[in-house]
Amino acid sequence: MTSLAIAANGLRKSYGDKTVLDGIDLAVPAGTVFSLLGPNGAGKTTAVKILSTLIGADPASGEIRVGGHDPAADPQAVRAAIGVTGQFSAVDGLITGEENMLLMADLHHLTRREGRRVTAELLERFDLTEAAGRPAATYSGGMKRRLDIAMTLVGSPRIIFLDEPTTGLDPRSRHSMWQIIRELVTDGVTVLLTTQYLEEADELADRVAVLHNGKIAAEGTPEELKRLIPGGHVRLRFTDPAAHRTAASALREVTRDDEALTLQIPSDGSQRALRSLLDRLDTAGIEADELTVHTPDLDDVFFALTGPADIPNQPNQPKENAR
Ligand code: ADP
Repeated sequence: MTSLAIAANGLRKSYGDKTVLDGIDLAVPAGTVFSLLGPNGAGKTTAVKILSTLIGADPASGEIRVGGHDPAADPQAVRAAIGVTGQFSAVDGLITGEENMLLMADLHHLTRREGRRVTAELLERFDLTEAAGRPAATYSGGMKRRLDIAMTLVGSPRIIFLDEPTTGLDPRSRHSMWQIIRELVTDGVTVLLTTQYLEEADELADRVAVLHNGKIAAEGTPEELKRLIPGGHVRLRFTDPAAHRTAASALREVTRDDEALTLQIPSDGSQRALRSLLDRLDTAGIEADELTVHTPDLDDVFFALTGPADIPNQPNQPKENAR
């Protein structure tokens, strides 16, 4: 049986009469990546703060266990098992990257020698050795996030909360962060990742929960979520308007766009469906100039579940700027 690293039943949190979390259930098996996906303001950080003991859940919440411990009753035990990085960064900009690391080693009561060894190893692993002697304030956004994760790893946590670890990062730093997360999982660490990027959840998560209006609107593997909704289709593009017209009348169930000269045919994208479509085109003597297969992605799922207004299209600035 797989044990659960994080389990929550009916997690609730309100501020005054504003309900942020309206009874959410989470079950994260050890050694997996679980992604809480939702737009800005959905309540992701609130969930992370509760699970990592920073704030309390409402009393009406059900049972919560992190690393087997109750965050409210035994916060010390939870803190010993977890690491938290993300929006509320622990990096001190006035001291160097190396000093930040050594400070963490002290906090974790490592001996001086052990602290130096772990610091050197982690700085090397996160490609920060060269920058180690510079004040952290001079680091780029990506370097700061890497330092933040390195600092978290000094305590060898088995469960890591990554709260929007790539928000505001450039694509290259984002990919290097993804690689870091994959390596953490290879080491057996459990990761709870919050993100507003569908692509990120799709890339990294074993399971995804879509947070919407304080509730989990859908949960499953990225593949399961994609199967929840229709949206798969084959798109044919023509350059000759006459061929476009002929094809539109020869094929049933098409959505046609007379301006773009395209036809969309609903399809699950399977080999069988494609063969049947190609047979029909051949029989009618039609040759399209371009054929593309569109399988639904998490964008479609998100769109179907939460409506167009909630699709984030602008990366938000990290919240640390707002403090
Ligand atoms: P996310 O991380 O998904 O962007 P948050 O958990 O930060 O969302 O916030 C969810 C909602 O809860 C937001 O509407 C936010 O304004 C509200 N909220 C968060 N913290 C507080 C607080 N201390 N007091 C009042 N409202 C809060």
